[in-house]
Amino acid sequence: MNLVDQFQRRISYLRLSVTDRCDLRCAYCMPEQQQFLPRKDVLSLEELHRLALGFISRGVTKLRLTGGEPLVRRDMIELVRALGRKLGDGLDELTLTTNGTRLAEFAEDLREAGVRRINVSLDTLDRAGFARLARRDCLPQVLQGIAAAREAGLAVKLNTVALKGINQDEIPALLEWAHGQGIDLTLIEVMPLGEVEADRFDHYLPLTEVRAELERRYTLSASPHRTGGPARYADVAETGGRIGFITPLTSNFCEGCNRVRATATGQLHPCLGGIEQVDLRAALRSPDPDAALTAALDEAMRIKPERHHFRIDAAGAAPALARHMSMTGG
Ligand code: SAM
Ligand code: SF4
Repeated sequence: MNLVDQFQRRISYLRLSVTDRCDLRCAYCMPEQQQFLPRKDVLSLEELHRLALGFISRGVTKLRLTGGEPLVRRDMIELVRALGRKLGDGLDELTLTTNGTRLAEFAEDLREAGVRRINVSLDTLDRAGFARLARRDCLPQVLQGIAAAREAGLAVKLNTVALKGINQDEIPALLEWAHGQGIDLTLIEVMPLGEVEADRFDHYLPLTEVRAELERRYTLSASPHRTGGPARYADVAETGGRIGFITPLTSNFCEGCNRVRATATGQLHPCLGGIEQVDLRAALRSPDPDAALTAALDEAMRIKPERHHFRIDAAGAAPALARHMSMTGG
C-alpha cells in the first residue's frame, strides 16, 4: 500500500543519509569538532539496501542519497549500483546530494549505475572564502568534480545557502558562473538545525531580500518549472538560466510535502523540522523485518506533522532542533 499521511499527502520521495561523516565542516552545518557516530550504529550496506527496497515497495519512486557526505562512505558505489537495478522497476529516479570533493573519482561510476542528475552544494567561488566557510581548502577539487560530472553526462544543479555577511555579495557571481555553463542555481535559507559555533541569527539572510537585490540587476520572471520539491523558480532574462528559491523561513511550503528522511542509523524523520522519529533499524533487526518495516512506515505516516515551525528571529536563541542537517540528510 502506498504511503499517505493523515493530511492526504502521498509520500513518494525518500532522502536517505548513508553516513553522518563528512570531509568538510561547513560552519552553518556542523561544528569544527563534530562528534561522528560509532560505525556500529550506522546501517550496513545490506540494511540500507533493504530499507530502500521497503520504501520502493510502498510507492517511493524517487530516492536521494545524502549525508554527511555520501561519497566518503566506502561502499557507496556498491549501494548505488544495487539501487540502480531498481530503476524502471519501481524507482523513477536515483540521485544524490554531494559537496563535490570526490566527484571526479566517482562521476563515471554514478552515471554507469543509472544516476542522471545530481545536486552539488557550493556556497562560494572564492578559494579563501570557501576554506573559511567549509574549514577545508577544497574549492579546486569541487570545481574539478563538477566538471567531471558534466563530462560524464550527469546533469548538475547547484545549491547555495545564502548567508548574510559571508556570501551575500557573491550571489550574482555564482549565478553568472552557473548560468554561463547551463547549470541551474538554487538558493536556500539557513535553517536552525543543531548547535554550531556561530549564531545563525547573525548570518540568516531572508531570500525575499536576496530576490529584491537580484531584481535590481536582472529581469526575473516566475517560472512554472518544478522539480517536485519546495523550490520555486524564476527565469533570468539576462543569463537565460533559472534560479530557484527554497524558503523554509520566509514562506512555508509544507502543504505539498512529498518526502521523508532516514538517517544513516535508520531513524526515520517524517519532517526535517520536527522531533518525530521512527526506529527503522530496530525494525530491520527484528525477527520479522518485513512486517516490522511495514508497521514502522505506517506509524511514520500517522505521526508526520502538518508543518515545520522553524524560526530565526532572535539572537542567541537555541536551534529549533538539536539534530544537525548532516545527521538528518539535507
Ligand atoms: N554533504 C553534502 C552536501 O553538502 O551537499 C550532503 C549533505 S548536506 C547536509 C545537504 C545540504 O544541506 C547542503 O546543500 C548544505 O548546504 C545544506 N545545509 C546544511 N546545513 C544547513 C542548514 N543549517 N540550513 C540550511 N541548509 C543546510
Ligand atoms: Fe559536510 Fe554537506 Fe554539512 Fe558541508 S553541508 S559540512 S559538506 S554535510
